[in-house]
Amino acid sequence: MTPAQPVTEEVDLMIVGAGPVGLFAALCAADLGLSVALLDHVWRGFGRGHATLLHSRTLGLLERHGLRAELHAEGARVDRLELRLNQSLVRTIDLPEPALAVSQVTLEKLLLAALRQRGIEVRAPQQAVSFEQGSDAVDVRVVRRELVTLGSPAHYSDWEPVESSRISARFVIGADGYESRTREALGIQTADVGALESFAMFEVPAHDPKSTTARLGFDDGLGDVMYPLPERRTRLGFQLSEGLDLAPDSRRLRDLVARRCPEAPLGDCTVQWASVMHFERRLSRRFGRGRVWLAGDAAHVTSPLGNQSMNVGLFEAYDLTRRMEDCLRANRAPSVLERYGSEREREWHKLLGVNVTFDLLPGAPSWLAAHARHLVPALPASGPDLLEILRELGLRLE
Ligand SMILES: Cc1cc2nc3c(=O)[nH]c(=O)nc-3n(C[C@H](O)[C@H](O)[C@H](O)COP(=O)(O)OP(=O)(O)OC[C@H]3O[C@@H](n4cnc5c(N)ncnc54)[C@H](O)[C@@H]3O)c2cc1C
Repeated sequence: MTPAQPVTEEVDLMIVGAGPVGLFAALCAADLGLSVALLDHVWRGFGRGHATLLHSRTLGLLERHGLRAELHAEGARVDRLELRLNQSLVRTIDLPEPALAVSQVTLEKLLLAALRQRGIEVRAPQQAVSFEQGSDAVDVRVVRRELVTLGSPAHYSDWEPVESSRISARFVIGADGYESRTREALGIQTADVGALESFAMFEVPAHDPKSTTARLGFDDGLGDVMYPLPERRTRLGFQLSEGLDLAPDSRRLRDLVARRCPEAPLGDCTVQWASVMHFERRLSRRFGRGRVWLAGDAAHVTSPLGNQSMNVGLFEAYDLTRRMEDCLRANRAPSVLERYGSEREREWHKLLGVNVTFDLLPGAPSWLAAHARHLVPALPASGPDLLEILRELGLRLE
């Protein structure tokens, strides 16, 4: 930090990263009356992430911030789950409350519109490059980069710092995703808690556009999902053990369906969107320290089957902003936020199957013990709803 450079702004909360988790954190903070600076190091527009399912608990949170009508207008309801093992139906579960399939792009647009109504814009392209924690606030150095042409005669263009400022924030939320610079600045390492998992994802026209049933299967330990999407589409996802460089086209989709879920109700296999993605199973060793805390993919990454990382991340944004507001209002020491860290860690240990025991309840089916670890992060629910589904299946997580 340049010592001579004066603080240009003071805010209650700085949020680094304007993905779904950062946008929602800003909305929660604004609705609590906090002053907010929300910045992103690229103005990416929308459409990078592809999480599509909002769990019922997440919907409850979003509804509290006035997004219910728009979400329901844009989404497709999911209220039932068929669970299959090696292609046999083992259980049909009615979700405690319906989930909603809605594209991440739609969610981000709605969040951004809600923020604009509250007078908050994403500041981009701006990058938080250093955090200096004091007793009352964090001194954050922010750099604005622009694409500049370099060389004479010009040879190439690169993003170069063109301006820097210092913002004093009482608290900071690092919602800056997978490669979180905030996490790095805090010196927090991540731990791999499982092998890299690869998935082929496809979207095709829906066979039955009125269906509200999702399907989750495990075939020789590899997961696959199928659930309804808005606009008469269906999402299919297949965990892969081979063919990681495959072209995810209609031929490959037909092949995967024939091998993994031949009974799946699939008509037209015209692929409208597809991708092969690799997801680590990774958890931060801490969720933050002092006045700077992490939420969303900055702190955890897991398989996309249950859409856990984004959903739990949105809950973290809600939880963290309330705790920070409480600290500010009641003038509490930031050490009370350690509790946020320990609670988040415990929840993620359960989701990722680390340091947990899976207790089978009386009458639990025999297949459950062998599949519990894969099943938990793949279910379309979190928090108490997830525990309720697990109890119904015959499993208790401790
Ligand atoms: C291609 C792809 C496909 C996916 N598919 C699925 C799926 O099918 N199901 C599923 O559940 N999940 C999926 N995911 C994951 C899902 O998108 C994430 O869980 C979700 O986006 C997490 O949100 P986030 O806000 O925590 O992080 P992100 O969405 O990663 O947002 C982080 C933001 O921080 C910004 N940023 C980073 N560093 C800085 C910095 N130093 N300063 C300022 N800003 C910074 C980034 O530009 C970005 O906008 C997918 C992700 C990708 C990339």
